[in-house]
Amino acid sequence: MNKCPLCGKGKLKLVKEKHVMFGVDLGTYPAEKCTFCSEIFTGSSIIKKIEEMAKKKGIWGLGATTKITKTGNSLAVRIPKKIVKYLKLKNSEEVYIYPEKDKIIIESK
Ligand SMILES: [Zn+2]
Repeated sequence: MNKCPLCGKGKLKLVKEKHVMFGVDLGTYPAEKCTFCSEIFTGSSIIKKIEEMAKKKGIWGLGATTKITKTGNSLAVRIPKKIVKYLKLKNSEEVYIYPEKDKIIIESK
């Protein structure tokens, strides 16, 4: 077993890691986990596989930066076209919005 390159104290143990992106399950893949600091190391070929799965599921690159703009007395968040397409959102559609710690959750009904 290899020594952990991060802490140098633990050894790397083969584990199975579940990968989830934007709440979508991408499957379970082999990885190495440090027995001391619990850091998980995923090989570049596995990262490539996970990326391919994310592309296959249509969620690769869905995350985006957007700006808050003023509209009347409220603020509006522009939803990027790729997210509109992915979630099949419609103009004037009613959504449910609420805070979750420091995040804003917008749920389509
Ligand atoms: Zn470690």
